[in-house]
Amino acid sequence: MNQLPADAPPMFHLLAKPSGSTCNIDCTYCFFLSKEALYPNEKSRMSLDTLEVYIKQLLESHRTPEVTVAWQGGEPSLMRLEFFKRSVEIVEKYRRSNQNVQHTFQTNGLLLDDDWCRFFKKHNFLIGLSVDGPREIHDKYRLDRRGHGTFDKVMKGWKFLLKHKVDFNILCTVNAANQYRGRDVYRFFRDELKTNWIQFIPIVERATEDTLEIANKGWSEQPGEKRLLYTQTGSLVTERTVGGRQYGQFLIDVFEEWVRKDVGEVFVQMFDVTLEAYFGRHLLCIHAPSCGYGPALEHNGDLYSCDHFVEPKFKLGNIHETHMLDLIASPQQRKFGMDKYDTLTAQCKRCEVKQLCNGGCPKDRFALSRDGEEGQNYLCEGLELFYKHTQPAMRTMAQLLNQNLAPSDIVKLYASDDAKRKPEDLCTCGSGKIFSVCHGDDLRISK
Ligand code: SF4
Ligand code: SF4
Repeated sequence: MNQLPADAPPMFHLLAKPSGSTCNIDCTYCFFLSKEALYPNEKSRMSLDTLEVYIKQLLESHRTPEVTVAWQGGEPSLMRLEFFKRSVEIVEKYRRSNQNVQHTFQTNGLLLDDDWCRFFKKHNFLIGLSVDGPREIHDKYRLDRRGHGTFDKVMKGWKFLLKHKVDFNILCTVNAANQYRGRDVYRFFRDELKTNWIQFIPIVERATEDTLEIANKGWSEQPGEKRLLYTQTGSLVTERTVGGRQYGQFLIDVFEEWVRKDVGEVFVQMFDVTLEAYFGRHLLCIHAPSCGYGPALEHNGDLYSCDHFVEPKFKLGNIHETHMLDLIASPQQRKFGMDKYDTLTAQCKRCEVKQLCNGGCPKDRFALSRDGEEGQNYLCEGLELFYKHTQPAMRTMAQLLNQNLAPSDIVKLYASDDAKRKPEDLCTCGSGKIFSVCHGDDLRISK
């Protein structure tokens, strides 16, 4: 590249989709499947030529020593292993001596075997494994093309990761099937899957009056029906969508378990991100004041503003024609990022937890605010609930950090408070249940 745009960001987090949106399973809530309609006459597979252009530009664009090469989909393992071997070689070809490259790979786990996991281990890939909870929850929406649950096959993949000691974390969607089961889901990941890093993503599928019925059936090809292309439009939601309040309650349910036992041992992305926000640092675009540094790259080199906005209106260009950094520094992308801040509702602007939440992701801003203003986050009630509920504990952990103490010291503070509770006291999570059958169910409490 001849010249970097003067005001280009020093780094960004690009998600590359080497097999486009194609997947070997058919999760009912996955609207990414419908994006195949954007490239109707193509077999969505990234060519080696595009791979080389992508990696070269990515490395040229970063002025920070850390660079992430992030693969996701669709299902990236639909590309052959040879493709990723080649990607590692290309990284070595173009990497500057001061650049450290982290490879990440988001997968449903079905195709993982010894060969894949040996490769991941050898090159320190960090794997994100998609699991929605124990079998009865996971198999509700994560189905194969014949409509069968995929839990057993995912667990087979998980065993290969464990066998080869590959670093992995769990990506779990929060949806209508698990929204009341936060603690069960969390315990399953911690105790059964032995993970110490978990990311929760709310399922919010928008629809209009015209599309709701077909959207409720799922986003893959429906026999005899016109396929919908999912776009971020409509103020209705599908029946799989998590409730706004329930999303917050789910996070609180997990938090109340985590804060008693696992601080410093298990990392839950939303909790890390929230604690960092108390120091004015925003690790995740969703709760940062502005965004625009998480573009998505399609198999053919088309670059979009964000993985959630892979739709014609948000296409920035193609990296074969324009360098990706020029696209990321373009006025169109800057506006996309600043709109997040510029379109905050009056309710958000005066909100007590605005510094932590920043109105959430624009894709979810399709509800009415308390003032009747359009553009409020659909998840607002739950976000507010979560941020307010966790405020005392987060403040304590922030104080501990300020004193150069470990935030995990909070576990002892909770234990000493819990020791004074009676079994019939109301649980601290706000569920309305008594403590001994809720978050105190496996603690020693006074009789
Ligand atoms: S639109 Fe949402 S997911 Fe995309 S970059 Fe902005 S905050 Fe992040
Ligand atoms: S909690 Fe609700 S009102 Fe407050 S900043 Fe977040 S979305 Fe806006």
